[in-house]
Amino acid sequence: MLSYQHAYHAGNFADVHKHLVLHAVLDHLLRKSSPITFADTHAGRGVYPLDAPETQRLGEYRHGALPLWQARDRLADEPLLASWLDAVASLQHDGSRLERYPGSPWWLAQRLRSGDRLRLYELHPGEHDHLSQQALPPNAQRIHGDGLAGLIQALPVSTPRLCVLIDPSFERKEEYSEVAVTLLAAMRKARHGVALVWYPLLPAGRHHELLERLREGGLRKIWRSELTLHAPGEERGMYGSGMLVVNPPWGLDERLAAAMARAAPLFGEACRYRADWWVEE
Ligand code: SAM
Repeated sequence: MLSYQHAYHAGNFADVHKHLVLHAVLDHLLRKSSPITFADTHAGRGVYPLDAPETQRLGEYRHGALPLWQARDRLADEPLLASWLDAVASLQHDGSRLERYPGSPWWLAQRLRSGDRLRLYELHPGEHDHLSQQALPPNAQRIHGDGLAGLIQALPVSTPRLCVLIDPSFERKEEYSEVAVTLLAAMRKARHGVALVWYPLLPAGRHHELLERLREGGLRKIWRSELTLHAPGEERGMYGSGMLVVNPPWGLDERLAAAMARAAPLFGEACRYRADWWVEE
């Protein structure tokens, strides 16, 4: 079953949270010159035109990327948000209007250096077709297939460093345990790799299974970042967005906390950000 299409949700508060963490991680990793293999296990389309009927139907970007975009003059003094918004602006045809929202393949591809590698996995044939239409550098490879199995097959990588983004749609409840099993296996093969995992905060609380499995599996240095719109159960559906970073770069928590203190109020009065170590050393 593959019914999920990210275009319905593109640019929502969870995308902003995920891509801000990704942008900040890339800043840190790219300070060193040694090459990196990036793997995006659930790539999606790559770029999302905001006037697409799917995206207009729910209009979630109006409560995510758009308020940030509209506040960009006021946010110019916040370094992470300013550089993130500059990157978003570079994708627009006309720098004054937000017309397209960048997905994870774009965030990764635009920072790719000649010695780096990028592997983009997408299982949905239609979404993979969209991704195939995006202009990408020659060291970016699009793979039509299962990203979790593909990641394990690709390890060990030929570059000295590895950075993985795992961003499933969690359409099936089994995906929580599949992600945990894959991440544990991947980190056994690439102990110093950096891994980012996105998860939804839903009233059913299934993300706890993912977190517990990682702890029980013996994974260390897991940093957790969560953005909540309101208390669980207050409204139906997703009430927050979570990101795990395994082996987070030093200083990531301070940068994110400063950025989120300014961004969260733009997503709603009750929006709260918190970050902590899920598992430390
Ligand atoms: N990472 C994207 C971004 O930030 O722009 C969004 C990805 S979206 C949440 C999840 C995507 O994973 C969907 O496009 C879906 O078709 C795809 N997908 C689902 N199961 C998959 C699998 N096992 N392997 C690869 N892609 C998968």
